[in-house]
Amino acid sequence: MIIVIKPGATQEQVKEVLDQLESHGLKAHISEGSERIIIGVIGDKSRLSTDSLEVLPAVEKLVPIMESYKLASKAFRPEGTSFEIKNVTLGGKELVMMAGPCAVESREQLLESARIVKKAGADFLRGGAYKPRTSPYSFQGLEEQGLKFLAEAREATGLKVVTEVVDPISVDVVCEYADILQIGARNMQNFQLLKTVGRAGKPVLLKRGIAATIDEWLNAAEYVMNEGNYQVILCERGIRTFETATRNTLDLSAVAVLKQHCHLPVIVDPSHGTGHWRLVRPMARAAVAAGADGLMIEVHPKPDEAMSDGMQSLTPENFSILMDEVNKIARVMGRNQP
Ligand code: PEP
Ligand code: MN
Repeated sequence: MIIVIKPGATQEQVKEVLDQLESHGLKAHISEGSERIIIGVIGDKSRLSTDSLEVLPAVEKLVPIMESYKLASKAFRPEGTSFEIKNVTLGGKELVMMAGPCAVESREQLLESARIVKKAGADFLRGGAYKPRTSPYSFQGLEEQGLKFLAEAREATGLKVVTEVVDPISVDVVCEYADILQIGARNMQNFQLLKTVGRAGKPVLLKRGIAATIDEWLNAAEYVMNEGNYQVILCERGIRTFETATRNTLDLSAVAVLKQHCHLPVIVDPSHGTGHWRLVRPMARAAVAAGADGLMIEVHPKPDEAMSDGMQSLTPENFSILMDEVNKIARVMGRNQP
């Protein structure tokens, strides 16, 4: 349920509402929009009389939320969520570009990648220091050393850093270096991890699970938000279907569905979504046309030599072409361009 607060209600009147919720053991999440305050109510409401809430002077109306997710629901923040991370706004007018190698392989490889994506106009450097690999014998990542290289690349270029955290015990160390904590597809339903990043106080980029429905995905976002962290970015990265021509099936309809039912920023990763570099540019263009707020693209100085995901990584030249193309489409979509 959400409680819509009357415009002009005083702080004391709002507090009355919060006190009543607290006395029933309910958790209140406050969304202060530009026009309205909305309170999301979480918990067992069976002993709460809605009549006693409705009579309070601050209450305009009570609205039940039918979806299993509540805080992620559009009703909680009808105007949409946008937030700033070091002067880049997620979920706003600008198209936010995150790019870099699949994995941090070495200092040289990462610094070169950072220079390449910065020159082409990216906002964030991506790169995994902890790699969730299908095989335990594949390269597992440089771990904290990789995080240090990411921080050095940020210093050198001014790019912000998005990088994956794979378990609750590494959340603190990843927080020391990252601007956004990435939760990978394989961990979308690692509920302990979701709760831990929810308490970490850093923005979270939540990738869609390999076989997750949109409803399950939004419930995963709910885990993070229920800890009080509303800075969640959803990333569509393709789902497992019967199709074998692509690594995954990039579900661009998810962008439209999310924009209808959820208020969080949505970005698209056509690299993992297709698995083939030749398909990345067309699907990146389509994602922007579908309304994505940003893109995450794998770029490698030498894709042939990449230690992971070389097949889907763009060369510097192709990334630069992609940037030109998506910027044109962003303009058509009414997004501001630098
Ligand atoms: C990644 O972005 O590095 C990654 C591993 O992606 P995903 O979790 O979507 O497979
Ligand atoms: Mn990858």
